[in-house]
Amino acid sequence: MSSTKTIGIIGGGQLGQMMAISAIYMGHRVIALDPAEDCPASCVAELIAAPYDDVAALRQLAERCDILTYEFENVDADALDAVVREKQLPQGTALLRMSQNRIFEKNFLSKEAKVPVAPYRAVTSSSDLKNLDWSKKYVLKTATGGYDGHGQKILGGQADLEEASLLADSADCVLEEFVNFDLEISVIVSGNGQDVTVFPVQENIHRNNILSKTIVPARISDELAQKAQAMAKRIACKLQLSGTLCVEMFVTDDGLMINEIAPRPHNSGHYSIEACGFSQFDTHILGILGKPLPAVKLHAPAVMLNILGQHLAKAQAYITANPSAHLHLYGKLEAKHNRKMGHVTVLCDMPDEIEEMGKGLDF
Ligand code: AMP
Repeated sequence: MSSTKTIGIIGGGQLGQMMAISAIYMGHRVIALDPAEDCPASCVAELIAAPYDDVAALRQLAERCDILTYEFENVDADALDAVVREKQLPQGTALLRMSQNRIFEKNFLSKEAKVPVAPYRAVTSSSDLKNLDWSKKYVLKTATGGYDGHGQKILGGQADLEEASLLADSADCVLEEFVNFDLEISVIVSGNGQDVTVFPVQENIHRNNILSKTIVPARISDELAQKAQAMAKRIACKLQLSGTLCVEMFVTDDGLMINEIAPRPHNSGHYSIEACGFSQFDTHILGILGKPLPAVKLHAPAVMLNILGQHLAKAQAYITANPSAHLHLYGKLEAKHNRKMGHVTVLCDMPDEIEEMGKGLDF
């Protein structure tokens, strides 16, 4: 039997493109489904141009592919259930449904995986926001559809209630206690349905709620890093994970707290393409195919910087001055403000250099 598979990717953005590149050099064929004819995956894979919830297009993809995967979590799970054959979607739609809803996700993390999360409660209307203890701050998040800080409101006191009530009456939400964290970190973990492999711990710096910079290894103690990796593994094992998952965490004075999970490769794991023996995309493809997973080693400390639309010129100048930096551009034709156009990864020879890079490197 041929070891070449045809892999269908739902979503043709940069994550789909980088998954496709890994799959292609392992000898597989890739078909992506995305509404945009000129999406990043179209540069490297055959494309079915159709909306994500187009059942006929999804059926065509399922019929033509051995294995299906998705590059983002807001895929229509019902439409997928209607078309996938048994075992064709190793990540499963249960994980998709869980990560589409913050309330389901928090319940899973705290009650099933039994990992620490910020104290939270489900909010179905503004009446659930009465009688809050204002000695604390809160974050109100819509249960579904939020990303990069969209659909979120910080509540510091009564004055914020009016706006928060509008949000709470417009959609189901989750109210979390505000966490005074020191650092944000994330851990990439990949599974093949049986075993898991874990990546080094990443430190993430956001600007305007969008990931700006990732520093690896995170500037935390080895003991804390091992705890973070153990938590990510625990979550992955509980899920019998297939493919790559990112676990985002807060580092606080009291230890680690899980913020959220993303059931796919993640922006904070892009450094792994150059800095590790295997990238998060390689292990995603190996994992969904049920192949043995390699141990992942960090070859060099790394800094990854996102290139948003407004950073293109600065990034080009940086690369001209620093040709050993690794430039990735996703092939997006229009450079809009805050649109992720690419990223740069810089590898450091000396572990100490990472401090300096973390401070100095910026667009
Ligand atoms: P999220 O969409 O949940 O990843 O949140 C986006 C960003 O908001 C996170 O990366 C944090 O910087 C911040 N954030 C989210 N939840 C909390 C929280 N409970 N306390 C403090 N900051 C938060």
